[in-house]
Amino acid sequence: MTIAEEFPSVRVRAPGKINVYLEVGALQEDGYHELATAFQAVSLCEEIVATHSDGFTMAVTGTVDLDGVPVDDRNLALRAARLLAAETGYEGGVHLEVHKQVPVAGGMGGGSADAAAALVACDALWDTRLSHPELHRLAARLGADVPFALKGGTAIGTGRGDVLNPALARGRFDWVLVTSEEGVSTPKVYGELDAHRERHRVDIGPIAARPSVDAEVLHALRAGDPAMLAAALRNDLQVATLRLRPDLASILEYGEASGALAGIVSGSGPTLAFLCATPEHAAELRALLEADGHTALHVHGPVPGARVIG
Ligand code: ATP
Repeated sequence: MTIAEEFPSVRVRAPGKINVYLEVGALQEDGYHELATAFQAVSLCEEIVATHSDGFTMAVTGTVDLDGVPVDDRNLALRAARLLAAETGYEGGVHLEVHKQVPVAGGMGGGSADAAAALVACDALWDTRLSHPELHRLAARLGADVPFALKGGTAIGTGRGDVLNPALARGRFDWVLVTSEEGVSTPKVYGELDAHRERHRVDIGPIAARPSVDAEVLHALRAGDPAMLAAALRNDLQVATLRLRPDLASILEYGEASGALAGIVSGSGPTLAFLCATPEHAAELRALLEADGHTALHVHGPVPGARVIG
């Protein structure tokens, strides 16, 4: 029996993420920022089914607005498949069916999850058997958030977020996400942050050249304590996202006044993430936010990274 007959398709699931801490360092000469972040993978996942093909093709379905998702070589999932083929010398192709649940341009790393899922799916389908470090190296070439989507769980990211170290984490954290119909561009958010810091240079003071994750965050994750984590949440991009999307400020206030321990913009936004004390509190908050006219989802973390299922 050939490998193609034995494994006609491979299904992989990969998680979206919330940055529970995101400190953005000063703008570097190369235009990038040094980051210090704590990632938590959450139970809002992307799924990819990979099947053998002569070429490289894909189709996208999903529960989210798919406007703006390319289905050609601009898509990170197809780029991941092509990169793996090029690096391993695999001569065939793949058809990827991507089912998206993570909001597009929502600040939860959906495209990165697709890339990680495609790497794992093609590696299994093609039987290329790369080691974890080899897959990680390819992931980092595809984008700063891709290595974390591969790894999942809880991790500390430095550099551009792609240099990962595992963080000890216990228990379960319940989140309510409020999604937006329209995404925001991550580069635009960084540009807005730089402009904001320039305007307020005197008040803000010097920006850390070498940011680092606050010890309180690590402590809260290790203790599995949502109240402690709520007090330590930080996202330096939030000020910039709220300038681009001032409508989000009142939703943050509403969520915090309606039972959340704390609310934060997820990554570059515009998805909002509310941390809750218990699953029951999260279910109640979700219902309140829905009743107020928002699209709200109850998720939890940490969950594993990209993995073959079924
Ligand atoms: P990040 O926070 O990592 O910048 P995000 O979660 O805000 O990402 P994504 O949904 O990952 O945003 O994608 C941002 C843009 O990347 C999209 O607007 C789209 O043009 C492009 N893109 C490429 N591949 C994908 C993919 N597989 N899914 C979604 N968008 C993709």
